[in-house]
Amino acid sequence: MKYCSLGNRSKHVTFREALLKGIAEDGTLFIPESIPRLDNEKLESFTGLSFSEIAGIILEKFLDDDFNHREIELLVKEAFNFDCKLVNIQPDVWALELFHGPTLAFKDFGARLLAQVLGRLTDSHYRNITILVATSGDTGSAVAHAFYSISGIQVVILYPSGKVSVLQEKQMASLGGNIHALRIDGNFDDCQRLVKEAFSDPELREELFLTSANSINVARWIAQTVYYAYAWSRLPERKQVIFSVPSGNFGNLSAGVLAKKMGIPVSAFAASTNVNDVVPAYLRSRVYLPRPSQSTISNAMDVGNPNNFPRLLHLYENDWNKISGEVKGFSFSDEATRQAIKTLYSDYGYLADPHSAIGWLGLRQLLYHNPGSTGVFLATAHPAKFTEVVEPVIGSSIPLPYQLEILKSKPVVSKLLSPHYNELKAFLLAC
Ligand SMILES: *Cc1c(COP(=O)(O)O)cnc(C)c1O
Repeated sequence: MKYCSLGNRSKHVTFREALLKGIAEDGTLFIPESIPRLDNEKLESFTGLSFSEIAGIILEKFLDDDFNHREIELLVKEAFNFDCKLVNIQPDVWALELFHGPTLAFKDFGARLLAQVLGRLTDSHYRNITILVATSGDTGSAVAHAFYSISGIQVVILYPSGKVSVLQEKQMASLGGNIHALRIDGNFDDCQRLVKEAFSDPELREELFLTSANSINVARWIAQTVYYAYAWSRLPERKQVIFSVPSGNFGNLSAGVLAKKMGIPVSAFAASTNVNDVVPAYLRSRVYLPRPSQSTISNAMDVGNPNNFPRLLHLYENDWNKISGEVKGFSFSDEATRQAIKTLYSDYGYLADPHSAIGWLGLRQLLYHNPGSTGVFLATAHPAKFTEVVEPVIGSSIPLPYQLEILKSKPVVSKLLSPHYNELKAFLLAC
């Protein structure tokens, strides 16, 4: 498989090149040059295969130019070395729990596949890659854990000082080794600006091989197709399957649509958002109007201009009629989200974080429009990551999973930098 950019479909690059560049020269996102197909026989065989076996079959279609069969087997085992659970909530409602990885959010899937492929590239081609990420929380911790102690790679994470939760900071900044956490005396926008400046500094790029690990990275994107196939293969009733995806940057939902185009039989998707509803508004009105994001209790989805939306549109040939026929948009307030957490807990004994609760709310709407379907909502974060929201709503405390329990005693080792680019540059050149 070769890759091309959304802006120029005729210029092909290798997976390695797409991976290391992050974004194409024309400023648009990389996509595979074609969509690989899974035939019916393959699909039926999935019911008897493990998660990593399914992952191997799917990802080999995307990685076959760059890795051999055995390498792909090994790298998916290493990347997806944690559980993916499909939990029954109501007769026709299932939660796909994607939060059993090291940082308890679905971003572990993409970040860990990225680390495995990049780690193998440095072995053979490039020594000493520096990954630079700006984060407001979840991405930084997933990337930090995925790349920890991978040789030949330094990770530098910028986060706004005092603006991430104590646990989030510990997840990013207690590892040490090749993971360098920088607390920036500023806000998230300052962190993003500093990263941008570094990427456009020719002097720095002469010295370092810089790359990014943000959610537009093509390795993170393709990794997310696997669990749609897995969930489908595990459902007892697969005639008419629908998915609801709690969405922010729309990497996750667009990966689901990619899985469908590969052949996984999905009849509809819900694009479920908080009040940052630019995509649901587009699906209703044909008008796409990015705007500054609003803060909510499902903060990993506080996005006003989703960076993966162009991929989603592309999969529907930029045709509003096609996309709005298959993807329905729903948006929910913080109040509705809290009520959903409460109902899920009291009526079904299910503990959901705010993002997953929005997934469930969207699924209920979608089921209403598609009666008789089997519905799956993606549970994207562990409820213990959001105790300050969930505990007051359910009126009791949530036990911490071991991934968070072990963090309690770990000291934070981060360095405070001013939001001036020269300080970051000096740090990067010395690290
Ligand atoms: C990042 C994130 C999302 C949004 O995923 P996108 O791919 O950006 O749409 C949803 N829930 C959680 C917990 C996240 O961390």
